[in-house]
Amino acid sequence: MNNEQKCPHYKKCGGCQIQNLTYEKQLEFKMKKVVKLIGKFHYVDKIIGMDNPYHYRNKVQAAFGRDKKGQIISGVYQSSTHRIVPVDNCLIEDEKADEIIVTIRKLIKSFKLKPFDDNKMVGFLRHVLVKRGFSSGEIMVVLVTGTEEFKSKRSFINALLERHPEITTIVQNINNRRTSLVLGEKSVVLYGDGVIKEQLCGYTFTISPKAFYQINPVQTEALYGKAMEFADIKKTDIVIDAYCGTGTIGIIASKYAGHVYGVELNRDAVNDARKNAKLNNIENIDFVCADAGRYMVNLAEEKLKADVVIMDPPRAGSDVKFLKSVVKLSPKKVVYISCNPETLARDLMFLSKNKYKVRKIQPVDMFPHTEHIECVVLLTR
Ligand code: SAH
Repeated sequence: MNNEQKCPHYKKCGGCQIQNLTYEKQLEFKMKKVVKLIGKFHYVDKIIGMDNPYHYRNKVQAAFGRDKKGQIISGVYQSSTHRIVPVDNCLIEDEKADEIIVTIRKLIKSFKLKPFDDNKMVGFLRHVLVKRGFSSGEIMVVLVTGTEEFKSKRSFINALLERHPEITTIVQNINNRRTSLVLGEKSVVLYGDGVIKEQLCGYTFTISPKAFYQINPVQTEALYGKAMEFADIKKTDIVIDAYCGTGTIGIIASKYAGHVYGVELNRDAVNDARKNAKLNNIENIDFVCADAGRYMVNLAEEKLKADVVIMDPPRAGSDVKFLKSVVKLSPKKVVYISCNPETLARDLMFLSKNKYKVRKIQPVDMFPHTEHIECVVLLTR
């Protein structure tokens, strides 16, 4: 059966590249791709799919503008253009978040506020970002505006809260630059405490407007569960959580470990990671703000030991500096979490040629309907 009719925006939006396939076929497609790229290293376990592969995104973003008739619209940029495709309901986004965005669009019209015009660089509302904690129920709304001035701010906030009392915090973020980045430097909290809390694998995490947080909470539990199973950490083990972001993986690993060191380049993320460790009363974890490769080189030079290295690099994958020092540090196990099987293949090739052997490959479908593929791989010395 063909799925195409399900989403009217499929062709223009371009966000869900393989939505024309049934979910079973999507999983087959992803399995084939993983086998083709990294099947030569080891047998690939069956991909973990979702029971309900819809509305899984806990983070939703909408751009605001006007159509040809001058009507206010909100939606997504047509792939590789700057044209907004109006979208009120998206099959992969959280439904509550979509509802809130539609309400905001109606409200800005009645408050006579203007959407931002990227060409003329005038107007007010540029984007709305909504993040929802699926288990905590907390909801953050970020209004990204082209100016700091916010006409009828109080009444606007009250009107929004009246329509959606489930919102727990509202932030104004000011972005007055000519940029394709959604968020600007400055944020002002308008309601609540400016962050939301969310539970994952039994721990609580704070999510701020800018911080990276996995967008599919259901599958993140499956992914991290597999990573912990593969890592099989012992009470005396020294564990490294490389590319740790806000510390989620390291914090989950800390329960089983002697000590965990998290390393991350982004300073804000490191600060969040430290706060998260404190929030969960975890004492056997430290976070370092550094380039993961450099940090590993230092560890190797100081002849420190690590038993397990868990690494979760961005799409570009790791680098030779990092991989070489992994080899030098020589942990018993490396658990590699990857969101890009192409760079994963390259990095596994390096490790396979340097005394590591791939023992397990587990793909997890973190992004149904899109072409993106996540894998967790166990290597041992
Ligand atoms: N493990 C985290 C985050 C993974 S995203 C989680 O699951 O939530 C990848 C992270 O790598 C990002 O936070 C990014 O800031 C960080 N990063 C990118 N390049 C890096 C480098 N050279 N050294 C350390 N961290 C890096």
